[in-house]
Amino acid sequence: MQMSHQEQKWLVLLYSLIKLDGGSQRKTVLKHIQENGYWYKNDQNDICRTTRNEKVWRNDFSFERQHLVANGYMCNGEHGLWKITEAGKEYVRALSQRLQNISFGDSTYFTAMFYQKFFQTEIQPEFTADQLLLEQLSQAEDSQDEFLTVLSDKPMPKGLVSNRSGNKNIYLRDPAVARRALIRAGYRCEIDTAHTSFLRKNSSHLYMEPHHLIPMSMTDYFGVSLYREQNIFSLCSNCHNQIHYGTKEDVRRLISKLFLSREQEICSILGRYITLEEIYQIYKAA
Ligand SMILES: [Zn+2]
Ligand SMILES: [Zn+2]
Repeated sequence: MQMSHQEQKWLVLLYSLIKLDGGSQRKTVLKHIQENGYWYKNDQNDICRTTRNEKVWRNDFSFERQHLVANGYMCNGEHGLWKITEAGKEYVRALSQRLQNISFGDSTYFTAMFYQKFFQTEIQPEFTADQLLLEQLSQAEDSQDEFLTVLSDKPMPKGLVSNRSGNKNIYLRDPAVARRALIRAGYRCEIDTAHTSFLRKNSSHLYMEPHHLIPMSMTDYFGVSLYREQNIFSLCSNCHNQIHYGTKEDVRRLISKLFLSREQEICSILGRYITLEEIYQIYKAA
């Protein structure tokens, strides 16, 4: 199911008003959209100016406001306040149903950051998910099970990947995929191979933890399986904790190091180009 350019603009604008406690001045609303990176920018809509010397995307949102008022989704508040109405909130709820089944592609104009914020997906549960995988991996290794160790490019079947529960997706993971990623890194930390760890019991290699560079919670947004060994990095415990709990500066340093070392592979599994800046925003480290 597709959502039109205009519907996406309405959704972003109305959602921003909700976030701003129902309404605010025009410049505050546009600043909110800008600072949270909700809307795509390119040379045509960001660099180019209208005849009134305004950025095109800003002008577009102001224009849509008139349509939203005409439809009863917004009203004119005092002192030119942009305000959402009850009907507007209802409309956002209706669009959110459709957003769950949207197919992403060239005609998606809101960004990954918007989608993520809309569904309140956080990086924190992602760490819990990594830990769960680590546990499965440990149990499997401890029981000395034989794993498939051939490097494979095969994604997991789509049906196996996600289980919907409410708005949150729970992804089933096959520990063999993560194990292949660790083998590929030679059981070394991919931030710095000199980072120390300890020898894992019942094995001849160092203990390392798997980390998904593009969070699993973004699976629906990108519309591809992110549970791929190309997206999984081997990290020492210290680096892994830092990437989830460190300062913005440190998170950016670690992310850029990982991404630049595997940029082409990451873009190829996503099926599109992604910038470092977009990944920083996903990690809330922009
Ligand atoms: Zn992680
Ligand atoms: Zn490390």
